[in-house]
Amino acid sequence: MHNTLIHFIRDVFNTKGSIPLHAPFFGGDEKSNLVETIDSTFVSSVGAYVNAFESELADYCQAPYSVAVVNGTAALQTALYLAGVRTNDIVITQSLTFVATCNAIHWLGGEAAFVDVSMETLGMCPISLVAFLERHCEYDNGQCIYKRTQQVVKAVVPMHTFGHPADIEALASICETWGIALVEDAAESLGSTFKGKSLGTFGQYGALSFNGNKIITTGGGGAILCKNEIAYKKIKHFTTTAKVPHRFEFFHDEVACNFRMPNLNAALGCAQLAQLNNFIANKRELAAVYEDFFSEAPYTFVKEPEGCVSNYWLNAIICKDENQRNSLLTSSNDAGIMLRPVWTPMHLLPMYAKSIQGPLDNTEWLAKRLVNLPSSVRG
Ligand SMILES: *Cc1c(COP(=O)(O)O)cnc(C)c1O
Repeated sequence: MHNTLIHFIRDVFNTKGSIPLHAPFFGGDEKSNLVETIDSTFVSSVGAYVNAFESELADYCQAPYSVAVVNGTAALQTALYLAGVRTNDIVITQSLTFVATCNAIHWLGGEAAFVDVSMETLGMCPISLVAFLERHCEYDNGQCIYKRTQQVVKAVVPMHTFGHPADIEALASICETWGIALVEDAAESLGSTFKGKSLGTFGQYGALSFNGNKIITTGGGGAILCKNEIAYKKIKHFTTTAKVPHRFEFFHDEVACNFRMPNLNAALGCAQLAQLNNFIANKRELAAVYEDFFSEAPYTFVKEPEGCVSNYWLNAIICKDENQRNSLLTSSNDAGIMLRPVWTPMHLLPMYAKSIQGPLDNTEWLAKRLVNLPSSVRG
């Protein structure tokens, strides 16, 4: 069986060489934009491409505003800071995520609390979130309080796993009821929609990533989607060392960060964004090919949830059990084809093992069985 799959993937990517999980694709104005930026000398923190990238990205997502930053982790950290997360606050997220989600929470002095994911979406499960809140928290004076320690639950961060939309409408309504800010980790899901609306625009803030492995890349980069001009200005200020604009004086009015995206990266981003619709079409075609193949194989192909359009950033299958997963990973990697297990769940990493957590049965079940398949855009 593993051999059939290995031959199939070789055919799909039409190569005898090694096949990565996800390689970037440069088929547009990337080179000319970069050369033009170098020639202009505006390679760094000031330049026309940053503004263009921000407004084109906001347009694409139908978000009121976006701010470009150095990476997705910085986007998450900034969004959570703006959502009010400070020392000792609790942020509820999923354990089935990339470690950056938790790191962003912890570098603000916050504490991650984990709830389970849904089997249908692989994203945060609304039922698990409500169960956690009803069991451990109370709504008091506009705030959600974790009863045992009286810490404030400041934010909920669902993550749209592999590009597939979580049940974001239900999650948003729970957050509203409980007075908790919703920050979407949309790092993997640029271009995916839930009932026609872009992911990253349901919460107060949405964080995107343009790392080399994401659906579009700026080398390294990220962005925060936000709702209004006040938020936009606050984010710009915070990510630009809180410098008060002046012709020559250096005056900064708060402790802030240098998270701005350099112009060089934004130049790459503009060229990539122009190809995003083609990338998504290309990846959805690949997903259909995989889905067809796996309809007859002893694995379950992970499909977009109903009513949603996924960017199918990373294709995934669910194996029968851990043994099947391990032997598949071994034989494919021996053959030079990069299949990958999902991340070790956060509550099983040493630094987050003692975090507050609800039942995580789906997370643990999935973590033993999920395998990602090569998903690059095909030329
Ligand atoms: C990629 C990713 C991030 C972080 O993005 P970087 O740009 O690498 O900092 C955060 N969360 C998730 C779920 C990701 O996949």
